[in-house]
Amino acid sequence: MTQTARIALSRPLRRLFDYRIPDGMVVQPGQRVRIPFGRQSLVGLVVDTGVQPPEGIKLKPISAVLEDWPALPDETRTLLQWAASYYQHPLGECLFMGLPPALRRGRPASQPAEQAWTIVPDASTTPLPAQAKRQKALLDWLSDLGEPMGQKDILAAGFSRTQLKALADRELIREAYAEERLSSRKPTPVDTLPELTPAQNVAFGQLPRPDEGFTASLLYGITGSGKTELYLHYIERYLSDDQQALVLVPEINLTPQTVRRFTRYFGDRIAVWHSALNDGERLHTWLRIRQGDPVIVIGTRSAVTLPFTKLGALIVDEEHDTSFKQGDGFRYSGRDLAVYRAHLNQCPVILGSATPSIESWHNATSGKYRLIRLEERAGEARPPTMRLLDIRSRPLEGGLSPRALQAVRERIERQEQVLVFVNRRGFAPVMMCFDCGHTSECPRCDSRLTFHRRDRALRCHHCDYQTAAPQTCPNCDSDAYKPIGQGTERTEDVLQSAFPDTPVIRVDRDSTRNRGSIDRILERVNTGEPCILVGTQMLAKGHDFPNVSLVVVVNADGGLFSVDFRAPEQLVQTLLQVSGRAGRGVIPGTVLIQTCHSEHPLLNQLCDGHYPALAEHILAEREALSLPPFRAMALLRAEAASMEESLSLLDAAKAQIRDNRIETWGPLPALIARRADRHRAQLIFLSDRRGPMQSTLANLCYFLENEKKPATLKWQVDIDPLETG
Ligand code: ADP
Ligand code: ZN
Ligand code: ZN
Repeated sequence: MTQTARIALSRPLRRLFDYRIPDGMVVQPGQRVRIPFGRQSLVGLVVDTGVQPPEGIKLKPISAVLEDWPALPDETRTLLQWAASYYQHPLGECLFMGLPPALRRGRPASQPAEQAWTIVPDASTTPLPAQAKRQKALLDWLSDLGEPMGQKDILAAGFSRTQLKALADRELIREAYAEERLSSRKPTPVDTLPELTPAQNVAFGQLPRPDEGFTASLLYGITGSGKTELYLHYIERYLSDDQQALVLVPEINLTPQTVRRFTRYFGDRIAVWHSALNDGERLHTWLRIRQGDPVIVIGTRSAVTLPFTKLGALIVDEEHDTSFKQGDGFRYSGRDLAVYRAHLNQCPVILGSATPSIESWHNATSGKYRLIRLEERAGEARPPTMRLLDIRSRPLEGGLSPRALQAVRERIERQEQVLVFVNRRGFAPVMMCFDCGHTSECPRCDSRLTFHRRDRALRCHHCDYQTAAPQTCPNCDSDAYKPIGQGTERTEDVLQSAFPDTPVIRVDRDSTRNRGSIDRILERVNTGEPCILVGTQMLAKGHDFPNVSLVVVVNADGGLFSVDFRAPEQLVQTLLQVSGRAGRGVIPGTVLIQTCHSEHPLLNQLCDGHYPALAEHILAEREALSLPPFRAMALLRAEAASMEESLSLLDAAKAQIRDNRIETWGPLPALIARRADRHRAQLIFLSDRRGPMQSTLANLCYFLENEKKPATLKWQVDIDPLETG
């Protein structure tokens, strides 16, 4: 009987390819092979062996195996196979994500080894000719070091290749083996951890023990409570010397402090993984992990696919952060894959946050995850005071009210630092009256109408109601009826001209793009000199600003009335995170939130600073509206050269849904209906049950792939979408 293998390619194809295994060749799932494909020769990954191809089909043989071990270990392969079906993404593309770029291209899975030299026993007492002074010096040096040295280091110490060769010819030194080099690698000196505070100790005692196998826990710890400190202690206490650990973080270039803290305690065991690494660095780290080195990886979402085989602990820091979800292509959630991965590797997973995602909060309070609370700040720091600043009928300059500007002035005069936060999320889709606070609702449903700038239309996202946007407020006739967020482009200029002698530092995507730029910003802030930080979401990410005593939130209302059902959740998370930057030192912090809706229950609850109550409030709303996490949601997006093309594809898709357990909303033009001359639309699916939804979507993807459609039309499915605009 012929042996066959089913093989995945790094192509956006929803199918696998069968090949014959030539006599004498051994292959197993996860292994890289080279196969003939049309006129090309491609790298493939074995998914399965022993499958029977249909009768009478003559299969081409695999050309070669690239290595005789599976590049993807079982856990990683199973994880990615699961993810491919959960996220409805082609299996080949998912599996290849588990390989570093060099290996995807078919490079050998080995490191160009550095040559190293070691001294043979008794060599240092062997007499050398008098004129060979440098050779003698090299020999003494190696003898003093007492361990193998890399050639690079030897040359850097001022010796030459000729001297090395001469000593080798005299058989006084020899090349060191790889194992000798590894074992002799000097550990970097590490610090000892600070003692845990009493509150931290209590939380620590509730963390899962490694012998419990798989458990998922949510560590709810307020900002500055010492979550990072707990992770460090956890790894120190429970990870054995031969185990691996993974710490997922949102965006590494924004959190250099975290990496430094880990390196201080674990030295060489720390490896980082993020998109700014080059191919060589990625291959190096990937191989270290694949070989079973006991590394502790600090990485962004894709690190969850690394080839760990000895995973002892998995931590997801700032688990609520939306950057754990990939925004295009294979739209997976690194956090959710981490939980499944811990299950596959039978190890504990700890999700940590001061503002847990509503999904995780629900899992924790319904008993699916263990809930661990840490509600005290470590050290002297106290939580900040939060207050609402009603800006109705008040003139704004660059989005700032006179009272907010006055508060900034007081702090600057006291030589303190200020943070001005411009919320860009949930930006502009809603029109609001800045005199009376009125926003427009759909007359047919309970949802807000969204503003579409291009045709000045107000549209409902749940039904197809639409109307022209009025020029003045329908409630009080004021002409201050504008999209929320307008005017904040000028915030930085207004601050700079009001405070000409104070540095105004902008922190956003653009100003932090380069490697090290956030470091420079942090350094400037850490001098403690008075300054004004102006920025977006980026400012809410785990930084420690001990001298910031005031936070001004320019526009909270966008998040209250956005059509995106996740906007309130993201608003309170962002505001609590950004507030958490204030008063981390000895100066108590104040947070001022500008709003036209100072009576809004969510904002008032926010001022208590107590996240669990907010989470419960939001959960209750979600339950009332049957939204996630109470129903599964998926989104089908289409974009094409015209809106008609996009909508008609979505109409055709909708017509395919025959299962009445699946509700659909739309199709509708997206909030940003036109981007770079592409017309975008969406169709939303909701269901009580994931099973039927999964199979319906799988069939739908198959239908869409085979449907005749314009060449310029693109579609994609997004499971558990974070943005529904
Ligand atoms: P979180 O991650 O919860 O925001 P961190 O772990 O960053 O909190 O801790 C906040 C600050 O408190 C840090 O500067 C940290 O060094 C300090 N800290 C936390 N726990 C301790 C402790 N047990 N002893 C001394 N300092 C601590
Ligand atoms: Zn009005
Ligand atoms: Zn409606």
